[in-house]
Amino acid sequence: CLSMSDAGRGSLPESVRIREVGPRDGFQNEPEVIATDDKVRLVNALMRTGLKRVEVTSFVRADVIPQLADGAEVLAQIDRPSDVELSVLVPNERGLDNALALKDRFQHVGCFLSASETHNKANVNRTVAESLEGLRTVIARAKGEGLRVATVIATSFGCPYEGHVDQARVLDLAGELAAAGCDELGFGDTTGMANPVQVGEFFTAAFEQLEGVELTAHFHNTRGQGLANALAALQTGCRSFESSFGELGGCPVPAGATGNIATEDLVSMFEEMGVATGVDLGALLGAARDVRDVLGRPLGSHTLVAGAIDWHGASS
Ligand code: ZN
Repeated sequence: CLSMSDAGRGSLPESVRIREVGPRDGFQNEPEVIATDDKVRLVNALMRTGLKRVEVTSFVRADVIPQLADGAEVLAQIDRPSDVELSVLVPNERGLDNALALKDRFQHVGCFLSASETHNKANVNRTVAESLEGLRTVIARAKGEGLRVATVIATSFGCPYEGHVDQARVLDLAGELAAAGCDELGFGDTTGMANPVQVGEFFTAAFEQLEGVELTAHFHNTRGQGLANALAALQTGCRSFESSFGELGGCPVPAGATGNIATEDLVSMFEEMGVATGVDLGALLGAARDVRDVLGRPLGSHTLVAGAIDWHGASS
């Protein structure tokens, strides 16, 4: 059995929390509409890999995102182990109203806005200030229902339209959202523009300025730097990550930008480093193979192609 020396691990966290976002961030951005039965089977499998957090769907208008039009059916049909926290994403109060009709089926609400005005306008046709104002109400109402609430700030590390996004602006927005009652704040590298030095500086500052709220890293592998960025965040003490089985998903704006980091690649890297994820990699790879077969084409995940590392040798 090989294990990392204490010197090699440095002061890394002993364990991390991973939220699987493939059923939402992934399925939403795939061109195919996946059948409800397939979604239910896949989410059930993901909830039995040891992942303790799963984002199941989004309560958005069906004409805007037809891929998730069956969100309520999926939520009603899946079979949640009691130690798994399920999330639903809501864009606004109407989405929250629709989600609350199934309130006993989930524990956590995810909200989102963009740090960049142009991306926010393209995504939800609102200014950032208008989005923040709307979210204050959504957050307060969800908290009033006893739900845990997170907001992911998209384009936290760069915007495809505006380029540089000011770190202070992102952290100020995060402070406003924490004050509005968020339990957790996520920082999204929506189109894969972040680099590890930037991420290290960002999370160091974020941990200094945002106390008492969980900070989550949401990286995309658009330019192949997702895992390097995850390591940089981990080294600042970040213990909460979002990723997508199979490397599904990404962001529809701009067209063609794809790829959350693959959950199985993240789990493989962390476990090999001695950072516990709680996830059974073999079971997770089984779910990734299943979704690959459903979609009928190769996926971006590296570990899905190569398999888990076998330190004892494949032929032994
Ligand atoms: Zn994403």
